[in-house]
Amino acid sequence: MPIRSFNPPIRTLMGPGPSDVHPRILEALSRPTIGHLDPAFINMMDELKELLQYAFQTKNALTMPVSAPGSAGMETCFVNLVEPGDKVIVCQNGAFGGRMKENVERCGGLPIMVEDAWGEAIDIGKLEEALKTHADAKIVAMVHAETSTGAQSDVASLVKLAQAHDCLTIVDAVTSLGGTPLKVDSWGIDAIYSGSQKCLSCTPGLSPVSFNERALEKVRNRRTKVQSWFMDLNLVMGYWGEGAKRAYHHTAPINALYSLHEALLILKEEGLENAWDRHLKNHLALKAGLEAMGLEFIVKETDRLPQLNAVTIPAGVDDAAVRSRLLNEYNLEIGAGLGALAGKVWRIGLMGHSSCAENILLCVGALESVLGEMGADIKLGVALPAMHKALSSD
Ligand SMILES: *Cc1c(COP(=O)(O)O)cnc(C)c1O
Repeated sequence: MPIRSFNPPIRTLMGPGPSDVHPRILEALSRPTIGHLDPAFINMMDELKELLQYAFQTKNALTMPVSAPGSAGMETCFVNLVEPGDKVIVCQNGAFGGRMKENVERCGGLPIMVEDAWGEAIDIGKLEEALKTHADAKIVAMVHAETSTGAQSDVASLVKLAQAHDCLTIVDAVTSLGGTPLKVDSWGIDAIYSGSQKCLSCTPGLSPVSFNERALEKVRNRRTKVQSWFMDLNLVMGYWGEGAKRAYHHTAPINALYSLHEALLILKEEGLENAWDRHLKNHLALKAGLEAMGLEFIVKETDRLPQLNAVTIPAGVDDAAVRSRLLNEYNLEIGAGLGALAGKVWRIGLMGHSSCAENILLCVGALESVLGEMGADIKLGVALPAMHKALSSD
């Protein structure tokens, strides 16, 4: 068979990311490529920065997308802020906190782990204990929205506590940005990173980051060079910094940046608060349907993320068979469990453009149909009415 152009099937993406990409964003991606130092492009970069500042709710001058996925945004925060020998408290309540530990170790830092069970929010009492025991800790790192479990942590309070103990804070907002309330400046977050493909509904491959002055002071006064040349902010800022005079650092992913600009513009047009409300409303409708059917959430109600719904798989049901039937018969992707939760839960994403009434009706309808045919122990015929009721209540 000769190789032909690749034409992907049309899917509905309701997993842990990527989410459905808005057609306007795909169209932006296909606009003509221009030079990365073209004045028209530089002007677009300035707008992009302003749109990102709005999404993050920050005035931080260093707010820009790293030219690589969310994991690279994570790494940018750690390699710039952690110096060899630094004690870093890492709050872990799921898969992504574990990656933070890896990052600290690879920077030569000493991770102090504060662990909570998967599915729980970060316990502020445990962080306080750790801060008292390790008075020499320099940084506290935490995940706002744990995509592996669907738990949301109280970042505002955790950051405030860390600052009272003179620590800088690194926050993972990959899944929270655009989907759930997040206010970088008023919460006092020092360094934060996100991703393009979750609640921003953009194509994958970019990681918005933002650093405040306190964090930059630490970067400027390092005793050692940042071990990554590509991610060293001292160098990246020559391209993304203020003013018209930009120097070549790396060739920016030009078209991908058009698409992020469009994604952020869509968010601005909708309004951040309206986007947060939409995510919540659709989550409540999905929850009404899934719970009526008899599926249970693994996170307690007060700590649930609206954009990531982790529910237990009914006893005796073949996880992979259900997901492949959803994909093959309904063109619907939902997420599998990660790590310790593999085979135990499904993760249903309602992120960005994917968070809409038609998607939840499709997902719950398709799940009910597939599970019903497999003879799973669920209640039939009650999910859709429960969802319709939730969707029509304001
Ligand atoms: C998806 C995700 C990441 C990693 O982002 P990539 O774009 O896959 O590299 C990091 N943290 C959290 C919480 C995530 O959900």
